[in-house]
Amino acid sequence: MRTLRTIAEVRAALAQQRRASARIGLVPTMGAFHEGHLSLMRQARQECDEVVVSLFVNPAQFNEAADLAAYPRDEGRDVLLADEAGVDLMFVPSVEEIYPRGFSTTVSVGGVTDVLEGAHRGREHFDGVSTVVLKLLNIVAPDVAYFGQKDAQQARVIAMMASDLNLDVQIEVCPTVREPDGLAMSSRNVLLSPEERVRAAVLHRSLRAAAERAAAGERDAGALAGRGLAELEAAGLLPDYFEIVDPDTFTPITAIDGKPVLALVAARVGSTRLIDNHHLRSA
Ligand code: AMP
Repeated sequence: MRTLRTIAEVRAALAQQRRASARIGLVPTMGAFHEGHLSLMRQARQECDEVVVSLFVNPAQFNEAADLAAYPRDEGRDVLLADEAGVDLMFVPSVEEIYPRGFSTTVSVGGVTDVLEGAHRGREHFDGVSTVVLKLLNIVAPDVAYFGQKDAQQARVIAMMASDLNLDVQIEVCPTVREPDGLAMSSRNVLLSPEERVRAAVLHRSLRAAAERAAAGERDAGALAGRGLAELEAAGLLPDYFEIVDPDTFTPITAIDGKPVLALVAARVGSTRLIDNHHLRSA
């Protein structure tokens, strides 16, 4: 596996593969790899000839300086894990390489970004995500790019950007990988104290509780959300949101009418903000 740090090197390295009609897969990441990241890389390995992973902690998508400063980083370990997962090329650019002096363009997806993470983290969060992902797609020009369902709203924003801007790339959304107690794997989980780590499993429990009630016949979104909120409250968590939405538009729904819907939760456990989501299906 090669580690490259400049855009020019990446383009030169991939030119040969492209001439040979290799199928190129890109997995954009912010590093501190866990099984969630590795599952994306393994899927790319199965489906592509050339697997590229980008590792860039994107300052533009952080709405809190303290969150950016605390974000876990371990490039040495990440390189070893990516190599083991069969990655061919790691792109690890500096902030200056991605945002050189004078950088002044922002890509902003409308609608779906107004709610949930967009409402709580501010407009700049998804603007930062879509701008950096479009840059990475332009730099690597992959046939397929892989994203996790764990960040469901982000995956939807990227898919909308790709569709709206006619990007010539297939967007694949891969299932959420979880710890044995259900906690969705996240680079931020290492920031939890042992007590917080135990408590954090309630995010998944709250989603499952709503899913079970939906499967048992409850169709009212308010009642389903109330079930999830009760679980969170019992664990002493006051979430930023627990919402049930249409998985395409992310607009709130009032009742399940047979079509699968998405329940999403965000909550701080101690000072660490975690998110998760789960599809709900009616009986
Ligand atoms: P991040 O490094 O957190 O920006 O994540 C990089 C990619 O990995 C994103 O597409 C995430 O949605 C995805 N990802 C993060 N956690 C998980 C997980 N537990 N399961 C599946 N994919 C994940």
